[in-house]
Amino acid sequence: MREVICIHVGQAGVQVGAACWELFCLEHGINPSGLLPDENTHLNSDDSFQTFFQETGAGKYVPRAIQIDLEPTCIDEIRTGTYKELFHPENLISGKEDAANNFARGKYTIGKEVLDLLLDRIRKAADQCNGMQGFLVFHSFSGGTGSGLAAAMLERLTVDYPKKTKIEFAVYPSTQLSSVVVEPYNSVFCTHTMLENSEVAFMVDNQAMYDICLRNMDIEKPKFTNLNRMIAQAISSVTASLRFEGSLNCDLTEFQTNLVPYPRIHFPICSYAPFMSSEKAYHETFTTYELTSAVFEPGNMMVAASPTSGKYMACCLLYRGDVVPKDVNAAVATIKSKQTINFVKWCPTGFKVGINHSPATAVPGGDAAKTLRSLCMMTNSTAVGGIISRMSHKFDLMFKKRAFVHWFVGEGMEEGEFAEAREDLAALEKDYIEVGLDDVANENEGLE
Ligand code: GDP
Repeated sequence: MREVICIHVGQAGVQVGAACWELFCLEHGINPSGLLPDENTHLNSDDSFQTFFQETGAGKYVPRAIQIDLEPTCIDEIRTGTYKELFHPENLISGKEDAANNFARGKYTIGKEVLDLLLDRIRKAADQCNGMQGFLVFHSFSGGTGSGLAAAMLERLTVDYPKKTKIEFAVYPSTQLSSVVVEPYNSVFCTHTMLENSEVAFMVDNQAMYDICLRNMDIEKPKFTNLNRMIAQAISSVTASLRFEGSLNCDLTEFQTNLVPYPRIHFPICSYAPFMSSEKAYHETFTTYELTSAVFEPGNMMVAASPTSGKYMACCLLYRGDVVPKDVNAAVATIKSKQTINFVKWCPTGFKVGINHSPATAVPGGDAAKTLRSLCMMTNSTAVGGIISRMSHKFDLMFKKRAFVHWFVGEGMEEGEFAEAREDLAALEKDYIEVGLDDVANENEGLE
């Protein structure tokens, strides 16, 4: 068994996680009490879903998940909500005092108080696995807990579990929509720590998700619940290969190998189709070609940075449902011939395809439609360099004036850490520019 442990940190991490577990339970026919009613056993003809759920002696399935927040609200919602019996109560951890949007409080002062307890729960969950594959970490880059505590935790996981993969699902700050003044600081510090301590970080930004809600889903005033359910659909596709068996089913590590050309260039963008309201979806067919074409449209990207403004380095297409390889090959061939899909010259193959025959499902009463087939694309694009530059620029504007710095220094950070983190991001921006250049390919041509 290749088990995976999910760790949800801070408000965004916990709430996005709640939407994911709601969906995972539906996909595997597990009810909110963690039971698998007889009529649902056919949904799990193999035991692959136990990578995410642990079976107890009482025949209950408990998520291999740990939720933590430094203040109680979000965790209390789980403790009292529909899924209160699903999660192991010891793995719902909350503190009394929040990180006040401050990375330093999340990493050093307040976060430190719960870090050992968190690591202890992770250790227990890891001990219950036979062949643990790694960790999925859900968090935001701009919140104090999501950035600071997640950073402290990942640093420790690197030491304690050096051979295990750590993958992030991260809510990255939007370019325009912002709810935290010091988010450029938090995000830069968080990115700096994560560069060394995670292998892949899938980024999602709320502005892009908000726009998809307005445009595709006909939701006039999107709430976090709407956004989170859509994010959960994409995460469900990304993790389907870990939870279901299948012939063309590619393992997450396999996708990772195909997606990350250099260790630091590890921030893929996701897009998903169909993101569509039930009413609209009723009139659509969603052929394999239509879905393939849709995931390349900027409007379906889950971050507000279009890969068309950069070059693609790698592209993984994860189909679900009633999809056959012949149609996929034809669709990919047509897409490749399009002028707008611009690949770096040093990556001639570019596409990795997986098909998972279990279709995506939809939350009853939710916004999304249940369709026969769906597609999630994960792409590594040089356009991400632009996102990092914008964030760094905002950091510079504040730091030049030393604005808000005292809040961080007062919580145990040194001013030198600001410069160190910023330099690392400048190097990352440079890395993104360099991978976009084609001179490596030219050198190779010269050798031939
Ligand atoms: P923390 O609890 O201190 O880590 O703070 P948050 O997780 O609230 O981080 C703030 C960022 O997360 C902001 O960009 C919020 O817009 C975003 N955020 C907070 N809650 C949610 C949520 O449930 N879903 C999504 N998608 N974003 C969230």
